Parts: sequence; structure tokens; C-alpha cells
Amino acid sequence: MTAARILIVEDNEKNLKLVRDLLQFHGYQTLEARTGPEGIARAREAMPDLILLDIELPEMDGVAVLRVLRQDPATSRIPVIAVTASAMRADRERMLGAGFDRYVIKPINIQEFPSIVASCLRQNTPGT
Ligand code: MN
Repeated sequence: MTAARILIVEDNEKNLKLVRDLLQFHGYQTLEARTGPEGIARAREAMPDLILLDIELPEMDGVAVLRVLRQDPATSRIPVIAVTASAMRADRERMLGAGFDRYVIKPINIQEFPSIVASCLRQNTPGT
């Protein structure tokens, strides 16, 4: 079985390193992007199994990035988890309404995070 490949789109180096190290520790392959446009380009070229998308990105925020991914037939079915510092209920509804598969609040809970990732991958694996 090949390890799932996960694209991390995150502009903060410390957050990126934390998520990368955590995912690699759990056996996943990781790809990285630091801006929205870079994330879209990497998603198109690499077709990851899952995308972790920071919402607070400069220039193009995570909601705008998701919109582009969902409009492109090549990337529209890749599951995307929103990662955001915002914990307000209205924001949560906005995230899920925008079409994110899941919603994770920073600072990420390193106990719960791997199981959220695993269940999101499971739900989106054809034939299981
Ligand atoms: Mn950010």
C-alpha cells in the first residue's frame, strides 16, 4: 500500500513544520505550498489524496483557493480540510458552507489531528 500524499498549504513556517512533521511521523507523504496560487498549481500537478488548506493566506485566502479547486474538474474531488485560527461559530458555518470537507482550528490538537486526517482519507477512498 502506498502512503497517502497530502498537500499542506500554509504560509507560516512554524505551522507548516509542525503539520509536516506530524503527518510524516504518521507515515504520510507530504507536499508543500506557501501561497494560494502555489497550492493550486501543486494540486493540479501532483493530484494529492488530501489538501490541508490554511484559510489565512496573503493575497488569496483559503476560501478563494477552495473555489478554484472545486471549479476545476481535475481537482474538484480532492478532499480539502480547512485549517484556521478562527473558532467563531459563524466562521465554522462559512467554512462548511464553502464546501470544505472538514474544519480544524489552530493551534492544531496533535492527538486528534491524525485521526481527522485518516477519517477524511477513508471517506474519500473509492471502494471502501
Ligand atoms: Mn496563514
